[in-house]
Amino acid sequence: MIKKIKFGIAAGSVCILVILINCLLFGKLFPYSPVIVGFSRHELASTVVYIQRGADTPDLSRIDGLIPDVENFHKWKFLSKPRIFIFKDKKSYYQRSMSRARFCAYYNGDIVISPWALQEAEKGEISLEIYLTHELSHSLIHQHSGMIRAFHYPAWLLEGIAMYSADQMGTSWYPSKEQTCDYIRQGNFMPPEYFKTGKEDRIHLDVEYRTTFIYSEFACIVDYLVEKYGMDRFLSYVKELTASSNHDQVFKKTFDIEFSDCIQDFRESAIQGQHAGKQSSHPDDAQQSRSGLFIQ
Ligand SMILES: [Zn+2]
Repeated sequence: MIKKIKFGIAAGSVCILVILINCLLFGKLFPYSPVIVGFSRHELASTVVYIQRGADTPDLSRIDGLIPDVENFHKWKFLSKPRIFIFKDKKSYYQRSMSRARFCAYYNGDIVISPWALQEAEKGEISLEIYLTHELSHSLIHQHSGMIRAFHYPAWLLEGIAMYSADQMGTSWYPSKEQTCDYIRQGNFMPPEYFKTGKEDRIHLDVEYRTTFIYSEFACIVDYLVEKYGMDRFLSYVKELTASSNHDQVFKKTFDIEFSDCIQDFRESAIQGQHAGKQSSHPDDAQQSRSGLFIQ
């Protein structure tokens, strides 16, 4: 009997191990796998790009060249070269990615790019540079948070700073700062703390594209914080949260105002047109237009 139980435990353990290895190599845990099968590896100056056999190879220098701007914006260096994965077709992407989005940054800092995102970039429908700059912001913060804290990092802030750092408002399907403030003036507003919680669906939004409005709203909140308190103070808040899970306490300590009061002030300034009326304070505006990197 004991022999049978021991055999059962051993057989069960082997089964679990086989399933885990299969998930890591060919399934949803693929970006967390230390061994990558079926992809060519391209070690560049600042990134490591993996291209699945049979996939087209994009201009890798365009991808690698984004890292210095991302580091300069956040005033933070990547702890290791982010790994970026490119897939040959939708089936392979869906099989190995937890997301069905165009791009996804994982909690370990790795980024997956869908095949259709590359096709859309090729046709000029999206800017690969803007979208990847957005994902690289997530990757950088995830690397510094570590996987556990990355999971708990405020989702609205991650998206807000990624949008803001990539200067993404007003591009593709994302409303501009002025359009976002118009929507807020019309009564649309997603409380940041509701984002990616069960409460999110309770909020009705009368906007053209729900998700892109929400993302632009968060970018506007980041813009408001940078304008009001300065970039250095804002970045110290972003960085402090990679070590603390008490968001509201960190917010109060950094800005000397309760988070809920500040969000109320932001909303009122957007409604009164004070926030939208100001010029964008994005510190990289001049640099970006000089570089010509971003397709508008
Ligand atoms: Zn994002």
